[in-house]
This record gives sequence, structure tokens and C-alpha cells, in this order.
Amino acid sequence: MSEYFSNIKTGATTIATGMGITLKHFFNAIKRKGDTGIDDADYFRQVDGLCTLQYPKEAIPTPPHGRYRLYVNIDDCIGCCQCERACPVECITIETIKTTADDLAVCGKTSGGQQKRMWVPVFDIDTAKCMTCGICQSVCPTDCIYHTPVADFSEFNVKNMLYHFGNLSKIEAEAKKKKLAEQQAQAAKEKAAAGAAGAPAAKPAPKPAPKPAPQQKEGEA
Ligand code: SF4
Ligand code: SF4
Repeated sequence: MSEYFSNIKTGATTIATGMGITLKHFFNAIKRKGDTGIDDADYFRQVDGLCTLQYPKEAIPTPPHGRYRLYVNIDDCIGCCQCERACPVECITIETIKTTADDLAVCGKTSGGQQKRMWVPVFDIDTAKCMTCGICQSVCPTDCIYHTPVADFSEFNVKNMLYHFGNLSKIEAEAKKKKLAEQQAQAAKEKAAAGAAGAPAAKPAPKPAPKPAPQQKEGEA
């Protein structure tokens, strides 16, 4: 009989303790964590206050060195394709066109002062495949491909996960290709002409050696 009343007492105590914790959080939730919400530096150190974030108005901040969505500052890209070669899942696709000499100034320089010698009409990253390993970022000589703090970039259509960063339209790329091909053809023609003009004159054919006089055999008069 005493065990029966002991169990009732334990049950009532457990319910009261649980309800006490629930009510404590209920009343604490009336307060906010910090005056500026998620932007408060001590937001996550505070015990009391609202726990639920008003997403997407509020979001958990990403760590400063976190690797999230990739971005390419195409103005600093020299088209070396090292990132494309290094990517272990082949989610980077780059196409380049060599810049002609008269286009170098238009092609411009990187923010570090390096002359760019390649147009980059296609620079696509399939972020649906990207595993955010960071290798592309580490091999880039101009630090122009990097991870951003953007963590939420989900899409309903997977095709929208393909990001384009190229710096020429299709029409512009065709014009640059044509111009380069014409200049290369002209240069090859001039080289061939210069080679023909500077070629040494043909050597005169060597004279045939005189035949030795036939020797007289012994006994012949
Ligand atoms: S982070 Fe890794 S997987 Fe993603 S594009 Fe760069 S190298 Fe490829
Ligand atoms: S490694 Fe950097 S500079 Fe080279 S193609 Fe990739 S993004 Fe451009």
C-alpha cells in the first residue's frame, strides 16, 4: 500500500518539475535575446530569451571561414583554368579566347595589376555538384574564386543551380574568335612570305668528275 502512494507522489513531483521547466521557458520567451536580435554579439551566450529565430528575417550567422556558395570575381580572372583542372567533381566549366594584341587594353588588368590575356566567355559552376571542398579557391593565383557566407541558396529547379560568370556574350565571343583567327592566319601568311624571301639560293649542281684514262695492259702495243 505504501508503494502505491509513493508512486503517486513520484508521478506528481515529476509532472510538477516538468511543468515548472516549461513555464520557466514560457515566461522567458516573452523577452528577446539582446536589443538587436541576431546581430547582437552575445546573442548565443544568453540563457534567457527567445530561442526561435524569425527566419528568413533572422538567421544563424555563418562562421567567418565557413565554405558556402562560390563566387567568381570575373574582373580578376586571368583564365588560367587551374580551378577547373583541380576540381575533383568537375563542376567548373571554362572556355577562354586568347586576347589579340590590340585588345589587351580593353581586356584590362586584374586588381593586382596583372595584364589579362584571355577572354573568359564561359565560366560556369554547377553548385548542385559542388562539395565545397575549397580546392578551387586555394589554387587560384588571383584569389578571384572564393566561398561566400551565403548558406541558403536552395532552388526548386536544379537548373538554377548552374551559375554563369563569363565576361562575354555569345555574339561577342564569336567576334573575338573570328578576329583572333584572322590575325593568326595573317601572321602565318607573313611568316611564310618572310621565310621564302630569306631562303638561301639553290647551290649549282656539282660537275661530274673526269673519268680516269684507261690503262694499257701488258703486251698491248
Ligand atoms: S569547392 Fe571543390 S567541388 Fe566546389 S567547385 Fe571548388 S573544387 Fe569543385
Ligand atoms: S584559377 Fe582563378 S584566375 Fe584561374 S581560371 Fe580559375 S578563377 Fe580564373
